[in-house]
Amino acid sequence: SDLHNITILGATGSIGQSTLDVVSLHPDKYNVTALSAHSNVDKLISLALVYQPDFLVIADDSYYSELQQKSAQAGLSCELLSGNEGLCHIAQLDEVHSVMAAIVGAAGLIPTLTAVNAGKKVMLANKEALVMCGELFINAVNKSGAQLLPIDSEHNAIFQCLPENYQYGDLHRSGISKILLTGSGGPFLTRPLDSFSSITPDQACAHPNWDMGRKISVDSATMMNKGLEFIEAKWLFGLGCDDIQIVLHPQSIIHSMVQYADGSVLAQMGNPDMRTPIAHCLAYPKRIDAGVKPLNFVDMVDFSFQVADFERYPNLRTAIDACAAGQYATTSLNAANEIAVEAFLSGHIGFNQIATINRNVVEQIQATQINSIDDVLALDSQARDLARQHLRKACA
Ligand code: NDP
Ligand code: MG
Repeated sequence: SDLHNITILGATGSIGQSTLDVVSLHPDKYNVTALSAHSNVDKLISLALVYQPDFLVIADDSYYSELQQKSAQAGLSCELLSGNEGLCHIAQLDEVHSVMAAIVGAAGLIPTLTAVNAGKKVMLANKEALVMCGELFINAVNKSGAQLLPIDSEHNAIFQCLPENYQYGDLHRSGISKILLTGSGGPFLTRPLDSFSSITPDQACAHPNWDMGRKISVDSATMMNKGLEFIEAKWLFGLGCDDIQIVLHPQSIIHSMVQYADGSVLAQMGNPDMRTPIAHCLAYPKRIDAGVKPLNFVDMVDFSFQVADFERYPNLRTAIDACAAGQYATTSLNAANEIAVEAFLSGHIGFNQIATINRNVVEQIQATQINSIDDVLALDSQARDLARQHLRKACA
């Protein structure tokens, strides 16, 4: 058949749901071959009943028997798998054309790389995977001939604004002077700095413009998300740190811009809705309906821009410094941040301590060469240990 087969890694999350929403609009084009979750068996089963995939994967092995029971009760006949092996299996199935990489955090790295190595069309939401091992990741893409398409709205916007013949890393020959990476500033753009210590997890997760998973919501509040995106942009487009300027744009209508030598600036705009970049990647280079409300310029009250202040967003400075320091620093930063955000979300540390732990870990990790995925994983676990030591001190 002419159907395009898709695996969705992280199907039960926010990006997973938005992907399925777009797929639902085009049953004549897309077929869901495999879905994964970490532990949310009920959600995975309910998705399976609607989309009838051939495979279901539960990443946490301890939920496998629950998945078996509930899948039988629901009358499903999908093949059931678990663990990293299961994730890697559905990432490289022969019949699958595209893989949506929408697992959150470092857990997505190996399955995403597996899809890359299998030469799939890889739609990358899982920015942490690229931050952890940018050069190895991009080398793997080039070696396998995989097609890497950015789901992150800013990177998708940049991708749309680049010239068609853009040569990786060749900004100046493409006539580009700068990449303008926009960010809303999150929920605490105007909150008095002296009240940051009383920020609760629910306040941090209440983003004014985007409805997202809890980890990326906290990252948006600290602007670690923009820091990760700065590093992500470097690797996706082959940029130097000086080529990227971060601009705050609280309304999240412009999703990023490319400035050309002749003074032209191309921007990609749209309502803040992840179904737009998802539909763009799914259909690329064609265009399809995403079910998104169109922009109405006449109703726009504010359309403004400002500078991102490092005092309000110390994580941003740490991330830019780490980007300049090299791979060991960005791998360490990502690992520390995952530990710190989890500790904040479970009430063990305050909001301000996320940035403090991140900074301390990056400063204490020794510069080292990263030559393999094993090196990446070893450094990731070393940085997590160091972050946990700082956590224990902070909680004592
Ligand atoms: P969610 O928390 O909503 O979803 C995460 C998904 O990953 C769920 O399916 C979850 O399963 C699964 N998962 C969690 N932990 C693991 C693990 N250890 N092993 C395997 N699977 C796991 O996150 P989002 O959808 O918001 O974000 C996903 C990725 O996309 C992140 O990297 C984020 O930075 C990126 N992104 C998200 C955007 C958004 O608007 N949400 C925008 C741009 C990028 P379960 O449900 O069972 O826990
Ligand atoms: Mg983004």
